[in-house]
Amino acid sequence: MEDLKFEALAKTLQALENISARTQITQMLVQLFLQTPPQVIDKVVYLVQGRLGPEWKEIPELGVGEKYIIKAISIAFGASEEAVSKSFKATGDLGEVAERLASRPRRGLAGLLGEERRELTVSRVYDALVRIAYAIGEGSRDLKIRSLAGLLSDAGPTEAKYLVRLVEGRLRVGVGDATILDALAIAFGGSSELRPQVERAYNLRADLGDVARIIATKGVEELQRVEPQVEIPIRPMLAERGRDAREIMEKVGGRAIAEFKYDGERAQIHKRGDKVIMFSRKLENITLRYPDVVEMARRGIKAREAIVEGEVVAIDPETGDMRPFQELMHRKRKHEIERAVKEVPVKVFLFDALYVDGRDLTLEPLPVRREVLESIVEPSESWEIAKYKVVEEAEEVEKFFLEAVEQGAEGIMVKAIHDKSVYTAGARGWLWVKYKRDYKSEMIDTVDLVVVGAFYGTGKRGGKLSSLLMAAYDPEEDMFKTVCKMATGFTDEELDRMNEMLKDKIIPQRHPRVDSRMKPDVWVVPHYVAEVLGAELTLSPIHTCGLNAVKEGVGVSIRFPRFVRWREDKRPEDATTEGEIVEMYRRQLKKVEEGEQA
Ligand code: ATP
Repeated sequence: MEDLKFEALAKTLQALENISARTQITQMLVQLFLQTPPQVIDKVVYLVQGRLGPEWKEIPELGVGEKYIIKAISIAFGASEEAVSKSFKATGDLGEVAERLASRPRRGLAGLLGEERRELTVSRVYDALVRIAYAIGEGSRDLKIRSLAGLLSDAGPTEAKYLVRLVEGRLRVGVGDATILDALAIAFGGSSELRPQVERAYNLRADLGDVARIIATKGVEELQRVEPQVEIPIRPMLAERGRDAREIMEKVGGRAIAEFKYDGERAQIHKRGDKVIMFSRKLENITLRYPDVVEMARRGIKAREAIVEGEVVAIDPETGDMRPFQELMHRKRKHEIERAVKEVPVKVFLFDALYVDGRDLTLEPLPVRREVLESIVEPSESWEIAKYKVVEEAEEVEKFFLEAVEQGAEGIMVKAIHDKSVYTAGARGWLWVKYKRDYKSEMIDTVDLVVVGAFYGTGKRGGKLSSLLMAAYDPEEDMFKTVCKMATGFTDEELDRMNEMLKDKIIPQRHPRVDSRMKPDVWVVPHYVAEVLGAELTLSPIHTCGLNAVKEGVGVSIRFPRFVRWREDKRPEDATTEGEIVEMYRRQLKKVEEGEQA
């Protein structure tokens, strides 16, 4: 099979480490993709992001321990472990240690091989990394060391450096999905104008490698034919927030349906025969957490193949009332699931059907999807269609909202039902509008921000990371831009947990996808999302979110931010966007001005 030299990939990774402009990164990736034989493009796409497949596939993470890597380096290059450890201590970078040793005259395994060295290809590296990642139990330690040493002994300096970075799970290159989509559009479609088509395929099949392979082997035309497939998650359709019933009715274009907005966990349920798989809002495979829902779906979906969506809600077993979504957290701990199934039972409220027995429903308007949903769902006590009502007037919306809140829902979702009310996978738009109870009282809504850095505390909190540098997401530049430094809202327990969580996310320098003027004590890989409540928004010379959007040279920041809770169901790219923050600031300004005039 045709393959790509691993050297080409390693060189690109090296070049990417030194650039931060998105257009340049895209250009580099285009060059790389064009050199790549189509059969291995998926592997190249995964490796560029430092992984072995889409996140939802649950391939064990790379992240081989330092000790193993030191051993492998020592075997490969015939240097003693002590010497390798010593240079590691001096440089703090095992990748560089390997790079240096690989550029010397070869000893060790590499020396023995001499002229016999086999060129490294992307497939060989990828396959070995997969073996390394999956190895568990007895003998796995040796296997990991041997496989890595084998690769290193065939590696040139740059290759060695990036092999080590990959197995450490610490690629210092931050290429987001959005940038890969752009690069694919340019490389195979000739221009970024094709981005929407590439993106649609990705939204229907959330596997960048898969999409890359389709476009590289079959051409861009084939993208039109991409349909949802059972067992591959579809990126969820998202709602805009509404504040006012009248505005909401206008946005959804008049007559609409209003549904209860349940406060639970979103689940995309895939069924084929007896097999059921569930994906979360951020497309994690959550099947094992809900053995009860799997059973409900088996019995309650009258179709051979189906992809439906619903909200899983915790129920009080005594009263049958809905409980807050936090109760579902018990389902996260493997050993507690069995007990949780009994103590915190759940109900499922279904609200959409995306694919049924060979029929792609995503391009059908909502009334058609709902009709299909109702035709395949066999309701039972814990498995039913979300409660809804057809609404035409703002007053009806208000009334239904109060009814929903009264019954323990978080509010309502108002959804368009006109001809164009398709399922917009992966996109937020005004076809669905959420109307939640907390908007009415608070001065500003909570926002979801990403941790990008942290600061050590003083006094009682000395030596512990106790405040966080938080950022919003800018989808245009695919960057995280800082909004505030958050130090309140943590209990001591929460703080300890946070220090644990952050441990393996700390990096020696600013992550390339972070834009910050502030320098925290430690930088953190954008990974964790927290819900944050603030007192108000202000202009700020320190933060980069909304820089120049309202006023030249300053950004928008949140005053008195307070930690509310972790949003483990969100990816960093799902955080509140820079645009939303700026919009909130403008709205607040308007309110203040109106208040002053009154
Ligand atoms: P978003 O998902 O829009 O980024 P979020 O995760 O903060 O925001 P919400 O703002 O609370 O969530 O609203 C959207 C979520 O509401 C959906 O992702 C889904 O989990 C949930 N939901 C509950 N009931 C419904 C319903 N009837 N239709 C659609 N979604 C619903």
